[in-house]
Amino acid sequence: MAEEQQASAGATQKAAPDRAEGTSPHDTVILRSVYVIDGTGAPPYGPADIVIDKGRILHIIDTSDPISLGLMGAFDPVAAYPDARVYDLPGHFVMPGLVDSHAHILGPSQAPSAEYIYKLWLGHGVTTIRDVGSLAGLDFTLSEARRSAANDITAPRIHANAFFGMGAGGEITTAHDAARWVQSIAERGADGVKFFGAAPAAFEAALTEVNKLGLDSACHHAQRRVSQVNAMTSARWGLRSVEHWYGLPEAMFRDRTVQNHAPTYNYSDEPARYASGGPLWLQTAEPGSRPWVETLQELLSLGTTLSPTFNIYIGHRDAARVRNSEWHADFTAPQLWDFFEPSHDSHGSVYGDWGTEQEIPWRRAYTRWMAFVNDYKNMGGRVTVGSDSGFIYKTYGFGLIEEMELFREAGFHPLEVLRSATLASAQLIGLGDEIGSLEPGKRADLVVLTENPLANLKVLYGHGALRYVGGKATRTAAIKYTIKDGVVFDAERLRNDVRHIVAEERERLGP
Ligand SMILES: [Zn+2]
Repeated sequence: MAEEQQASAGATQKAAPDRAEGTSPHDTVILRSVYVIDGTGAPPYGPADIVIDKGRILHIIDTSDPISLGLMGAFDPVAAYPDARVYDLPGHFVMPGLVDSHAHILGPSQAPSAEYIYKLWLGHGVTTIRDVGSLAGLDFTLSEARRSAANDITAPRIHANAFFGMGAGGEITTAHDAARWVQSIAERGADGVKFFGAAPAAFEAALTEVNKLGLDSACHHAQRRVSQVNAMTSARWGLRSVEHWYGLPEAMFRDRTVQNHAPTYNYSDEPARYASGGPLWLQTAEPGSRPWVETLQELLSLGTTLSPTFNIYIGHRDAARVRNSEWHADFTAPQLWDFFEPSHDSHGSVYGDWGTEQEIPWRRAYTRWMAFVNDYKNMGGRVTVGSDSGFIYKTYGFGLIEEMELFREAGFHPLEVLRSATLASAQLIGLGDEIGSLEPGKRADLVVLTENPLANLKVLYGHGALRYVGGKATRTAAIKYTIKDGVVFDAERLRNDVRHIVAEERERLGP
């Protein structure tokens, strides 16, 4: 989100305890008789047997396909690996672990502990996150990233993008200082930089240095800088991903150069600023118009990725919906809930006086924004699934699943949704050869589901999809195991741990 400085400044987050959950990464694991959704956009196949060894996928044996059986020969993995841990999973589906392209490990005002956040992520099948901003502190995030890479903690793998200028002791405004700062965070081990707009000379120089060093880059184009640097400007300078939507409408302006702001507009007035976002989309190009197509084509030619985070603004079109999301009761920690409630001190907590006149333009804006993102995907552009949870009534894990539903609403086929949430996000962070799809040789990051997620994405939610079985309401949470680096986690147990953390925190903090 915005105001990254403000979000969790000052206080440090509780690091995750040493890993007490999951199997050994050294085990050989066989997943028997599963249907495979490989993450590339290909349709499911199977039943198949998946053999995992030393944290990598060794074989995927399609036991039903005569061609693949002919190529592999008669091969019974259970006989071939007698010491393997075997999971018999007839009727189950397997997909790659989800990769959240816009996540934050947040501080104590938004989570009681890192463990709470990580277990919500893993409990939702998230095996990798791109932390954009390292708001709990870069050293903290890098330390947790190293511990996760070694499987010493129960957490997704962590790709850490440092917030531009963090630790610099003041705003960076010159090219020289920008390049130096990028070098310094690269030396500390950061994977990339998250920008929030910057002085043009510093921004361009930083991106040049980022690309020279082969680092990742992401930008939330804050309105205070968009008149100088919109999404197209920074894409031309080599920015890897445009986060949210900021800077895109401005890139399509042809009859103006700035948004038609009301004279009373004040950027520091957050509710009013958020209210102006819907009208902004309505002031820009129509779908299919020349500036619309030119913008998409140029972004495509530059290889820019869109990471829209539709879900984080969804309350703008219906604030009551996000306050009443079904997961809050069991899974939203009290400090996170307090952060969400309307306040001048909490970033994004703007629904104190949010009414019909604010929501209607946002409903229209979503239609146009979603069309833009869907058109980009159809042209071959990379679009990734990112959540930005921890703000605006979005609880970790749940926000990512909702994002997938919103991709569906935008026009993505469920297979395209899954590809955006797996392989596309992995490619964005430079890990496309290692994770993101189910192929022999890749790291064993995968999710085992009790049913087909393509039929209903809601089964991915930790609180479960609602069903009436025999006249009784029941809930189905389909994520049974989350496997990261070959370590098998019981996803329901992780979600129950979170339920306990939330109950304990409520007890501790009182009403
Ligand atoms: Zn964010």
